[in-house]
Amino acid sequence: MTLKRFVLGSFFLFAGLLNLNAKLLEYDVLAYRIYLKVFPENKQINGSNTIEFAVLKPGDEFGFKLSSLLRIDKIMMGDRNLNFVRNNHQVFVSFSAILEKGAKSQLTIYYGGTPLVAKNAPWDGGFVWSKDNLGNPWVGLACEGIGASTWLPCKDTWDDEPEQVTLKLEVPNSLVGVSNGRLVQTEKGYTTTTYTWETKNPINHYGITINVGAYVNFKDAFVSDYNDTLDLDYYVLSYNENMARTHFQQSKRMLQAFESYFGKYPFYEDGYKLVETPYWGMEHQSCVAYGNNYENNQFGFDFIIIHESGHEWFANSITAKDKADMWIHESFTTYSEALYVEKVFGNPRAIQYLMVQKEKIKNDAPMIGVYGTNHKFNDNDIYYKGSWILHTLRSMIDNDTLWFNTLKDLNTHFYHQTVSTKQVESFLSKRTRMNLSPFFEQYLRHKELPVLEYFIINKDGLNELHYRLKSKVSTLEMPIKVTLAKEYYDYVYAHTKWRVIDLPYEDASNFKIDGQHFLVNVERVEPR
Ligand SMILES: [Zn+2]
Repeated sequence: MTLKRFVLGSFFLFAGLLNLNAKLLEYDVLAYRIYLKVFPENKQINGSNTIEFAVLKPGDEFGFKLSSLLRIDKIMMGDRNLNFVRNNHQVFVSFSAILEKGAKSQLTIYYGGTPLVAKNAPWDGGFVWSKDNLGNPWVGLACEGIGASTWLPCKDTWDDEPEQVTLKLEVPNSLVGVSNGRLVQTEKGYTTTTYTWETKNPINHYGITINVGAYVNFKDAFVSDYNDTLDLDYYVLSYNENMARTHFQQSKRMLQAFESYFGKYPFYEDGYKLVETPYWGMEHQSCVAYGNNYENNQFGFDFIIIHESGHEWFANSITAKDKADMWIHESFTTYSEALYVEKVFGNPRAIQYLMVQKEKIKNDAPMIGVYGTNHKFNDNDIYYKGSWILHTLRSMIDNDTLWFNTLKDLNTHFYHQTVSTKQVESFLSKRTRMNLSPFFEQYLRHKELPVLEYFIINKDGLNELHYRLKSKVSTLEMPIKVTLAKEYYDYVYAHTKWRVIDLPYEDASNFKIDGQHFLVNVERVEPR
């Protein structure tokens, strides 16, 4: 037995359990063809997944993941029954011959059992077996943190996405089964109905989901400024239909706002859906989970509709390769809420919204987690601090045309791709023609905020402001707005070295930084 690096995740484990000389192949997932029968009454599932793949590195052993809570009945390649071994959540399948680089193949895993039940969906995820107010079974599934292999045999990684997914969902006749993409077939049987759903765009593993409930469906359409029409599809509990028909109108306002900022909705072929769920919400691609009781917040919008749909651009179209870089999903999406407020209610209201976010910033840990560990974030800085990092960047750039073109181009450049922080950083630097590396080094990789240190001295009747940035990043330089006259803000170019500028007022207590646009600590120090 040799210790090999397992290509599916970035951690080490034992492979080659079937054959001492086995060589684990590396592969790119092309498609999943899933069949899933859901038994709400006894909280069980039964199904199969056909994994279509292309070989990246030759081998005669194939690895995937599946929760050890679920049994595997058999694994077939064509009519051949393949041998496999399980090691906790890892499964190794033995082929009799080496599959060469570039070869395309597929295998089908037949499985079932009692899947993990979510402790606190969507954060601590798994299956949610619930009942609606009429006593009907109501089933949801959210697995962002814990991974799709809790219910599906799959590669279960953030850096590879199937280009297509077909999901046949078999549910009792009294219920409706809803999944990602478009409904392409409904087959009614004696006791069950099978709904076949299809996506035609790359989809991240945790974005694949199922919903089962006594749903009613209604449709709408969004006519885009891009001269295209997006199909809107809503699945809600029957007794909420009237409320939903009114409340979900804001989806169109959201789409219009986000398309204007980030470019066209990334999944026109697959449509846009909101599906009522027994948990708060989740950004399931083209099948957004909605469980916010049709309530608007104090700013007049439904947080779940706006936030989870914002993820269609940041998380679903642009996906982080590693969970450690999850700020790419949450920071841009949380910032998108503020942009939504700006578009719909105006800039002053957006600043108020941002100030509410700012109060929640903790600075307890860096924004980037530990790579290759399925990092778990313990605070909400990837949301609120992330939003403020982007808001601060906009204020530093001080050119809204450039800023908004950059956001749009970011979406075009990384459309339907998996990316790293480094890629995003370098794109933003190039597009804005600013060296943003020190800025991102400070704000993403150190937990502390930089401090603008200052003192004011009177020299020959003139007041001088002495200022510098205290930062672990010696090259950090930021244009920051401060009171250069009483109640008048303008830019100083702060560096880690001391700089001096004339001030037209004497009272140092009048000195402030523009805290509505910059996330920087400020500290008055002794003159030096
Ligand atoms: Zn989110």
